Amino acid sequence: MLRDLLIDKELFETLREKSLESDEGGMNTTEEVELLEKAVFNRLKKKRSVKKYKKLGVSKGDLKEIIQLADIISLDAMGGPSNYELAKEHQEWCLICGRCCKESESIFIHKDELNLLLTFNPELENGIIHNKLYPEHFELKDIRPCKFMDKETHKCEIYDSRPQVCRSYPLVLIESNGKAKNIINIRYKCNYTINLILEKSMILFDEAIRRLEEKR
Ligand code: SF4
Ligand code: SF4
Repeated sequence: MLRDLLIDKELFETLREKSLESDEGGMNTTEEVELLEKAVFNRLKKKRSVKKYKKLGVSKGDLKEIIQLADIISLDAMGGPSNYELAKEHQEWCLICGRCCKESESIFIHKDELNLLLTFNPELENGIIHNKLYPEHFELKDIRPCKFMDKETHKCEIYDSRPQVCRSYPLVLIESNGKAKNIINIRYKCNYTINLILEKSMILFDEAIRRLEEKR
């Protein structure tokens, strides 16, 4: 009910279906998305108690629907902060747990950043191979865990000159309708990701309640 105040139902379903299609790299699979949404739900129900809004007819199902919307839309489309702005403002959400450096399937290097990366890290010369999906680009060899992650502190040993994909994480830059767009890489074990979706869910929830009250 609440979500319908924010987006047309059919449009939502189309966008949701599209986002659940696993890409070639296996990113954002249905299982990952569901586990992430469960983790966000457990936090959201504490931040936005359904009891408080019971009189308005709000249920736990509404919270789940709002989270699903937060997964797929960027709030700047509604005049709110973009994924990039939220991530930049809340770097404290990263717990430096090192999971992203231990478990990433591939550490992508764009062909245009290769020279700069090698200038600062000449030792990388033998540590880079062509990307398996996009052979005109590259990727780090010897990952899972990445050999540049300090095993004790989980910090990056080439932090100042790490690849762009590492700088942006947990956001991923994609092209959509000819425009560059930052989407959130859904990883349910990543605290940064969970909090990003949680924050977006709270903003969407508050906006939906505002619209609901306005209609009464
Ligand atoms: S981005 Fe996420 S997975 Fe990576 S270190 Fe931070 S909290 Fe851990
Ligand atoms: S280069 Fe650094 S930030 Fe990137 S995966 Fe390796 S350790 Fe992590």
